[in-house]
Amino acid sequence: MGDDNKPVFSDAPCIWCGDCVKVCPTNAWSEAKRGYTVRIGGKWGRNPLVGSLFATFLPEDRVVEFIAAVLEWYKLKAEGLGRIRLGDTIIKEGPQELLGHLRNRFPEYTVAETIAPQIIATQIGK
Ligand code: SF4
Repeated sequence: MGDDNKPVFSDAPCIWCGDCVKVCPTNAWSEAKRGYTVRIGGKWGRNPLVGSLFATFLPEDRVVEFIAAVLEWYKLKAEGLGRIRLGDTIIKEGPQELLGHLRNRFPEYTVAETIAPQIIATQIGK
């Protein structure tokens, strides 16, 4: 609590999930804008990856166009590499490659910086 006995909001750890807006019993929070948070490159399987953040507040009517742009980049970069997955392609090329591609078409929604998909340590094969 702050000096005024009200909760103190910390922006840094907020992931914009919107759950506080949905559950606030007094409607103290309201949404100023709405859209999808886009994480790319995640997968399960033997070598799972956590997808990384590429866009925020992507409007619903631009989602298909956004996915098509990702697949266009993937097709170009994965050409001739066999069964390489999208997340592994991002790691190989570097996340800034895909981010730049998306920023050209969706400058208002792409994040300023991102990281490569993160490898999850599993016990498979151990
Ligand atoms: S519930 Fe979600 S949107 Fe609300 S403060 Fe926590 S992380 Fe942010």
